[in-house]
Amino acid sequence: MCVFCEIINGNIPSEKVWEDELMVAFKDNAPAAPVHVLAVPRRHIESANCITGENSAIVAHIFEMIPKIAKSQGIDSYRIVNNCGKQAGQTVQHLHFHLLGGVEMGDKIL
Ligand code: 5GP
Ligand code: ZN
Repeated sequence: MCVFCEIINGNIPSEKVWEDELMVAFKDNAPAAPVHVLAVPRRHIESANCITGENSAIVAHIFEMIPKIAKSQGIDSYRIVNNCGKQAGQTVQHLHFHLLGGVEMGDKIL
């Protein structure tokens, strides 16, 4: 079972900031910014390459919740990052969106 599935089912501890029937959001354990939350579907979807018409409502739900999660962390300006595939730096093969904020990031993407 993948590390995020283990976090979702509680076998690996994490600092959860949001959970509902479709998703969980928890603090990244190696934060790259003052606010660094990972928003993940409960269902194991491997990457953005595996988003389909059958599961995209889950992704839509995550994006609907992200502003509320950001607000709960005290921010309303943030960057959402998804690494898809090895070359892009995906290290956990369970779809996740990094919610990053609380610091001036500038306008460069990379
Ligand atoms: P990726 O590189 O796949 O886009 O992002 C994976 C993220 O998961 C990394 O930022 C990493 O710090 C985080 N991460 C990996 N393992 C764990 C863990 O066991 N707990 C938490 N909270 N975050 C993790
Ligand atoms: Zn998983």
